Amino acid sequence: MAVGAEAVFGESVITTRLDTAINWARESSMWPYVFGTACCAIEFMSVASSKHDISRFGAEVVRFSPRQADLMIVAGTVSYKQAPILKQIYDQMTEPKWVISMGACACSGGFYDNYTTLQGIDEVIPVDVYVSGCPPRPEALLDALIHIQKKQKENESILKDRVNRDFKGHYDE
Ligand code: SF4
Repeated sequence: MAVGAEAVFGESVITTRLDTAINWARESSMWPYVFGTACCAIEFMSVASSKHDISRFGAEVVRFSPRQADLMIVAGTVSYKQAPILKQIYDQMTEPKWVISMGACACSGGFYDNYTTLQGIDEVIPVDVYVSGCPPRPEALLDALIHIQKKQKENESILKDRVNRDFKGHYDE
């Protein structure tokens, strides 16, 4: 027997939680900010183009203002000189936000094991999904995107304060 709103409105309404409704909308409309510094950024262009078509996953609205983006994709080598800029841009994105580390260079410095190259962006910002490869295949980046959408759908609550995550990078006090 139907109770509550279903009893009054029959099958013309469905009830859900606010978290579920917002996450459903959010997972289908991610706005990426691409921090592209090297060849992986070219690979991202391939993901965005018609052959692989990132818009099938609702993430084609690439923004170059951090205040309009909720998904940072770091694609390429990051030098120590760029690291504080990366951190500042990350901080300027509004919560909730997610980060994909795309390719060997962003994940670990890649083969640039030298005095100029950050040995992984997780030294300065938190990372949600790491994508291996040099460069990663477009399908691998799409897989990372699906992984984040799954996280949003299943785990994340809008009531959970992602700002107070445990992460402490080089530039966090
Ligand atoms: S991981 Fe490979 S393809 Fe990507 S930026 Fe580094 S060297 Fe270039």
